[in-house]
Amino acid sequence: MLLMAGRKHTAMSEAPEALALTGGAGGGAGRVSVLLPVPLNGPLDYLVPAHLVPDGGKLPAGTIVMVPLGGRRVVGVVWDSPASGGVASSKLRPIHEVLDLPPLPDDVRRFVAWVARYTMSNPGEVLAMAVRPSVVIAPPGRLGWRGVASVDAASLGEKQRKVLEAALAAPGSLTDLAKRAGVSVPVVSAMAKTGLLESARLEAAPRFGGNSGSGTGEAPTLSEAQAEAGAALAGKVTERKFGVTLLEGVTGSGKTEVYFEAIEACRRAGRVALVLLPEIALSAQWLERFVRRFGLRPLVWHSDLGQRDRRLAWSAIAHGRADVIVGARSALFLPIHDLGLVIVDEEHESAFKQEEGVIYHARDMAVVRGQLAGAPVVLVSATPSLETLNNAQSGRYDHLRLDARHGGALLPAVEVVDMRSDPPDRGKFLSPRLIESLRAVLGRQEQGMLFLNRRGYAPLTLCRTCGHRLQCPNCTAWLVEHRARRQLACHHCGYFEAAPSACPSCGVAGSLVPIGPGIERISEEALEAFPEARILVMASDTLTGPNAAGEAAQAIVDRRVDLIIGTQIVAKGWHFPHLTLVGVVDADIGLAGGDLRAGERTLQLLHQVAGRAGRAEAPGRVMLQTFSPDHPVMQALLDGRADEFMDREAAARRPGHWPPFGRLVALIVSSVDAPSADRVARDLGRAAPRGPGITVLGPAPAPLAILRNRHRRRLLLKTTREIAPQNLVHAWVEGVDIPRNVTVDIDVDPVSFL
Ligand code: ADP
Ligand code: ZN
Repeated sequence: MLLMAGRKHTAMSEAPEALALTGGAGGGAGRVSVLLPVPLNGPLDYLVPAHLVPDGGKLPAGTIVMVPLGGRRVVGVVWDSPASGGVASSKLRPIHEVLDLPPLPDDVRRFVAWVARYTMSNPGEVLAMAVRPSVVIAPPGRLGWRGVASVDAASLGEKQRKVLEAALAAPGSLTDLAKRAGVSVPVVSAMAKTGLLESARLEAAPRFGGNSGSGTGEAPTLSEAQAEAGAALAGKVTERKFGVTLLEGVTGSGKTEVYFEAIEACRRAGRVALVLLPEIALSAQWLERFVRRFGLRPLVWHSDLGQRDRRLAWSAIAHGRADVIVGARSALFLPIHDLGLVIVDEEHESAFKQEEGVIYHARDMAVVRGQLAGAPVVLVSATPSLETLNNAQSGRYDHLRLDARHGGALLPAVEVVDMRSDPPDRGKFLSPRLIESLRAVLGRQEQGMLFLNRRGYAPLTLCRTCGHRLQCPNCTAWLVEHRARRQLACHHCGYFEAAPSACPSCGVAGSLVPIGPGIERISEEALEAFPEARILVMASDTLTGPNAAGEAAQAIVDRRVDLIIGTQIVAKGWHFPHLTLVGVVDADIGLAGGDLRAGERTLQLLHQVAGRAGRAEAPGRVMLQTFSPDHPVMQALLDGRADEFMDREAAARRPGHWPPFGRLVALIVSSVDAPSADRVARDLGRAAPRGPGITVLGPAPAPLAILRNRHRRRLLLKTTREIAPQNLVHAWVEGVDIPRNVTVDIDVDPVSFL
């Protein structure tokens, strides 16, 4: 959440009320509380004019209304907590209008309240994710024509009668009505002129009218283990009970096919299935498989949808016209009625953590969403997070496993390339051993992949003469060279500049040198080594547009590519049957820095990349270039014992009450004025909560000490699991004076420590 002066939240004191659902109207006769999608502390009271409740009844909670707020008209939702009564009725303003939309379901409202309380956000800010005004309010439709009911059809000629029938059935434009009636346009326009038709607003035609397609697809024949797991999941869906299941299986074991069984059961039960994927833009292959399996397209929801598509999708969901919804984390807040199943694929992915605005972890909130809806939740991964593993081990979650790859494909053989004994040539980054192996693979007409999680050409540019390093003017970060674009760019704030030819500090020309590799530099090196190879670079800045990643994947499947070079994009769930060698350029890259989950995350990412190799008949091989071949992460990858590594992680985190054995809340203090940030950080440090099971670390400058020109300080609250840290933080922050120019962001369950 965001805390600013004069805008302190009271979410904690309000949430319990909001959770205690009355299910009925909010408040006494004529008065109702309405939550608005704006950052206010809680709902506001409004009057209900008698004409809006003609039968003398009440406006049920969930009703979507238009209300005045200052000089504006805003959308709001009749809320569950009773009207406060704090303001005299004579001072209240009336609700303008009840929108012709299904009410926001009970479980969605409870979810909004729950998330607000847990993340310490204003409930209105959370509501804004469920009921976005621009999405809810339809723009006025175009003008068209509808039939006049009182016209005597018998008095009309045959053509005119057909037009009248069509126009009575549904209004339309002149051409539309002409087409539907099978007559020429002038026939229709003449009728319009003579008053046989009257003007009418046309609804924006829903391009998405629900799930489209035949609804019949092809289900593969499942192996025994797959069928068993699928049946277990389907059974939970049929039971209509909340419960969480971890579906764990090695890459290529058919986890997707297995959870498709649960989706099938959900559709048969007439309920809605929600699938969360970490990055929708990278799920072209997933969508293809879905269509093949079910014969229809799911409704896709993500932040890049255009305004119109977003509105149509929201409306289809609100009206219950979509039975399978696949989306990024924000899909959790859709107004789904009768949610019957929630699936979180790649549950370990940190992309599920929303880091701005309402800061929440979609995997964790998916569990809450399922619980409030009374629906089973399935968490899917080849390398589950320690949080989820711990829940499975303690019996809170059920645990299903698939231990073998489908169709007898073997897991790839993993080996390390010790960069100390097998170093690359000077100024190069690929060891001779990796190059030789790639050569052999390409010679067999198989495909190779080089993975390096770093965009651009070089992460650092240095002046050979004076030692100056090119830094972002807005952030504590080096500028990354993007040679193809002839630019230096900051990956944190988006700043870029033309690459200079002389050092900006000492002015010596030709003295700037790139330090370290990004994938552009690796592709240059690969091109030198394999001039004949067809190389494809996959990174978020080289694949732009909604279909780019899908098209790239198709080119790989069609063997129009020999060598793939990419960032973490290539690690996603792709199925590349001809890919047999994966080279990890720098396996140590994620281990630097003191991040709590550095080891866990590196293991997950590298395991995921490795899992792209050898998914069909030809066996796969993975080579990890590393300077620390004895590191537990490398060892775990070598002998395929991720579980042992995770056991060690657990043992290391348990005694200090680090997650998942304790709770963390991060406070990030920021200001354009460094002394102000320091003062608030210091005051927070002094006022820090104390007591058994409570530790506060900091204040300290954040690793990204300056971001977008804001100076940042961090504090970290750690508690044992029994303590609800939100209460502590609430009292803590309330007790400190925060001036206007300082912001305190609160990150419950932080994933990033930058
Ligand atoms: P995971 O999600 O565990 O990595 P997938 O579900 O992507 O595995 O399956 C890997 C590949 O094997 C996919 O191409 C999938 O279509 C195929 N596959 C899995 N199970 C079967 C099956 N029972 N019959 C046919 N193909 C299958
Ligand atoms: Zn920057």
